[in-house]
Amino acid sequence: MWKDGTDLVQRGFQYLSDHFGKYPYPQYSIVQGGDGGMEYPMMTLITGNRKTPSYVGVVLHEAAHSWYQGILATNEALYPWMDEGFTSYASGEAFNTLFAGRIPGDHSQAYNSYLGIVEEGKEEALDTHADHYVTNYAYGTASYSKGEVYLAQLGYVIGKENLDKGLLRYFDMWKFKHPTADDFIHVMELQSGMVLDWYNEYFVNSTKTIDYSISAFSSNDKNASVTLERKGLMPMPVEVEVTLKDGSRVMYYIPLDIMRGEKTGKDYNGQSWNTQADWKWVNESYTLQLPYPASQIAEINIDPFEGTADTDRENNQLIIPAENTMIIKRD
Ligand SMILES: [Zn+2]
Repeated sequence: MWKDGTDLVQRGFQYLSDHFGKYPYPQYSIVQGGDGGMEYPMMTLITGNRKTPSYVGVVLHEAAHSWYQGILATNEALYPWMDEGFTSYASGEAFNTLFAGRIPGDHSQAYNSYLGIVEEGKEEALDTHADHYVTNYAYGTASYSKGEVYLAQLGYVIGKENLDKGLLRYFDMWKFKHPTADDFIHVMELQSGMVLDWYNEYFVNSTKTIDYSISAFSSNDKNASVTLERKGLMPMPVEVEVTLKDGSRVMYYIPLDIMRGEKTGKDYNGQSWNTQADWKWVNESYTLQLPYPASQIAEINIDPFEGTADTDRENNQLIIPAENTMIIKRD
């Protein structure tokens, strides 16, 4: 385990230093002992007899705590998610780049864990004091999983490039200064040029959830109209991918007006964002006009890359029937 894992751990540690801020100490020790994995400043304890991915995964998680527990050092009672969640995000990013078959940027396990507790109705808000969650289950899922989703999903809102730069900026501005949740989101506002207080109001200070759906579709022989509906109480910017029958894909991006800004750069297909008029955050529905008739459209998907923690993905997709039905409505 030690032999096989050493090179991977060193590469992972370097990844953390490059992407989340430069590790400021001359040494880091990995010591066999304890009852699982446990972080300490400049050291982790880890139990033996593990397969290489388990060894590397646990060490990288405990090592990433050097950034969020050690160097940034948020108050663990008030903001446990800014340590465990951010640490899980960082070690996940490092881990996914080290192992063949892993997808960089994949945080789906954390999304599924968060969506699971929402489904069970046991979720408690991220701003709960660590000692005062009703269950350990709610504490753990909030701190580790929802905290990780918080960052991955923020990447959807402001763009991955801004998230990456923002995390380095956060480290540089706040190392050794005990930042709060407001301090963090303020750095991301500086980085993205967007107003983001609403993101914390909903995703940290409440248990309101996200669910967007396609509620209606109609077409004439020149163009089509899609009605999108916000069914969840948390508003988000919305991405809609339209796949045409010739196989080409067009990504529409609908910013949220309270962001007072929008993503720039390229979409997932390397094209500039096809940016639409803002969705006014209080409105429950939005009409997207498409310059194609139904006969040219194969399917329409909201958030096809699953950047948002949408609680019901079933209603995100609409497949246009071959017979070009002109009006589709669903409850
Ligand atoms: Zn941890």
